[in-house]
Amino acid sequence: TAATLTGKDLAAAIRAETAARAAEGPRPRLAVVVATADEASLWYVRSIAKAATGAGIACDLVDLGPEAAPAHVGETLERLSGDPSVHGVLLQTPLPAGASAQELAGAIDPAKDVDGANPLSLGRLAAGLPAFAPATAAAVMALLDHHGVELAGRRAVVVGRSTVVGKPLAHLLLDRDATVTVCHSRTRDLASVTSQADVLVAAAGRAGLIGAAHVAPGAVVIDVGTNPTPDGGLTGDVDAGAVRDVAGGLSPVPGGVGPVTTALLLRHTLEAARRA
Ligand code: NAD
Repeated sequence: TAATLTGKDLAAAIRAETAARAAEGPRPRLAVVVATADEASLWYVRSIAKAATGAGIACDLVDLGPEAAPAHVGETLERLSGDPSVHGVLLQTPLPAGASAQELAGAIDPAKDVDGANPLSLGRLAAGLPAFAPATAAAVMALLDHHGVELAGRRAVVVGRSTVVGKPLAHLLLDRDATVTVCHSRTRDLASVTSQADVLVAAAGRAGLIGAAHVAPGAVVIDVGTNPTPDGGLTGDVDAGAVRDVAGGLSPVPGGVGPVTTALLLRHTLEAARRA
């Protein structure tokens, strides 16, 4: 049965290292812009604020409310980008109807773009230039490295092509010399592609999408999906009960990519503050 590729110990180590470096001062500051009433999103933002405080990073929640006009969101991002006391700026989704997260994130100074949301950051990442990667994509790489998963020359398959996870992750895997395939909702015969993977990353947001038939024996499977369950919990994109019998390693949900994502957001904020 598959090894459990937990992210909790790695996340704790990143938070501790970040806290130690933040304590050397000056205190890093992260601003999180929120314009939603979505409970899951607000829960996530509160968990970031709590983790930030624990790591000695100030966290301002800038709540514009679910009715905020897109222009107001953009102006707020510009103001925070120009504020020298703020080192990291995060734009939380979902946004009010009519607002495009990718258009608005263009207002975040790339030097403060700790979640790699500005299209400039993705472009720089694709070009192999220094940039903040989206924290979730960076977290997948950190989790693979932490568990000693070899990437060079191996086949990596990413399920999902979003700007926040699938696309940046494909570039990060390419930079590590993996042979990368990206699948999406229009991919035909998903299992025939994913079952070729040495390293399979599921980031589709579909509970149970990846079953035993999608996974090669011994493959490493990273589950990025966070799907709410009826009982108020979380479940991934991988049918863990079935895949565990086939895979060599599987990251759990919760307790895999998620905690590492939050820890890396804090580390990115520290790095942005150090460079400022
Ligand atoms: P998204 O909805 O923007 O993109 C989903 C992608 O999956 C799309 O590219 C789509 O083509 C693909 N897809 C959908 N159904 C598919 C199917 N049946 N077969 C193949 N591909 C399919 O979502 P996202 O923002 O990229 O997030 C993906 C998942 O990761 C969600 O569950 C989200 O909650 C989770 N997530 C987790 C973290 C974390 O820190 N753990 C962070 C961000 C997102």
